[in-house]
Amino acid sequence: MGLTNSQFDSIMRSYEFQQMENRRTLDEHKEYIRLHLPEYYECKNKESSLNLQRATYLMDGKDELARNASEQLALLRAKEDSLLRQAGISADYLTEHYVCNDCKDTGFIRGQKCHCFRMKAIKLLYEQSGIQELLNHDNFDNLSYEYYSGEDLSHFENAVDTCHAFVRNFNSDYRNLFFYGTVGTGKSFLSGCIAKELIEKGNLVIYFSATKLFAELSRGAFDYKNKDELNSLHDDLYNCDLLIIDDLGTELTNSFVSSEFFAILNERHIRKKSTVISTNLSLMNLQDRYSDRVFSRITSNFEVCKLTGQDIRMYKKRQLSRK
Ligand SMILES: [Zn+2]
Repeated sequence: MGLTNSQFDSIMRSYEFQQMENRRTLDEHKEYIRLHLPEYYECKNKESSLNLQRATYLMDGKDELARNASEQLALLRAKEDSLLRQAGISADYLTEHYVCNDCKDTGFIRGQKCHCFRMKAIKLLYEQSGIQELLNHDNFDNLSYEYYSGEDLSHFENAVDTCHAFVRNFNSDYRNLFFYGTVGTGKSFLSGCIAKELIEKGNLVIYFSATKLFAELSRGAFDYKNKDELNSLHDDLYNCDLLIIDDLGTELTNSFVSSEFFAILNERHIRKKSTVISTNLSLMNLQDRYSDRVFSRITSNFEVCKLTGQDIRMYKKRQLSRK
């Protein structure tokens, strides 16, 4: 699942907090009724003693008396309901309410994580990976072909088709995507589209720019105090459903980066976990910059999509300045 221990603990704390809130609200409701509807409370007291009496009659075989008690109980409950109604209070005012009725805000159903737990986990990883902002814009709803023509357009159309197929078959098919091409041709945009679709389907997606990713890894590796953090990060990077590495090649590449990069590709390949990479590097530059084994992993395990064309960001800026 890719959750670190501290992330797991923080989710469990949020459930404990919610349960406390639920109980506090119920106590407030009870107190309100006690103060404003004392008649209701008298009925409730009568109800519990009648219940007891009825049980005793049933045990002693006094069926007639038990039946009488049942009738009186029904009358009492009807009176309670009408008292609440007259006071304009809803019938479930004195029952405990939950944010998630399925797990009653415990996070688990018969030992299995509830859907609400999974959503909390996703949200946490979502925020951690910092793609919230990006995804507000980078999604298939904002897809536009207007910036492309000729061969550039057919490259882009092929890439979009590949993305749709990737999303459609994500849970049944193990595939990896590698977008390369010049600056501003829509590579990161397409990664964002994939991320958004898969997050919405409940997958755990982690997004990193290459610069941030390798900076985090080296912070953990070269500072002995961060060993636990490094282990959790490795755990997340190797096990999340989808890992997106954006702008590969913008980091300061050295042997540490190259070996960490290979480890990520290799571990995810062993686990059949998909990875999406985007880069401005050409395939030749990729081979020069990283080790042969990195190059061979990518060329043999990734679907390679080339994107070409003008720099869309620059084009948009020019259009804006003309207005
Ligand atoms: Zn739940």
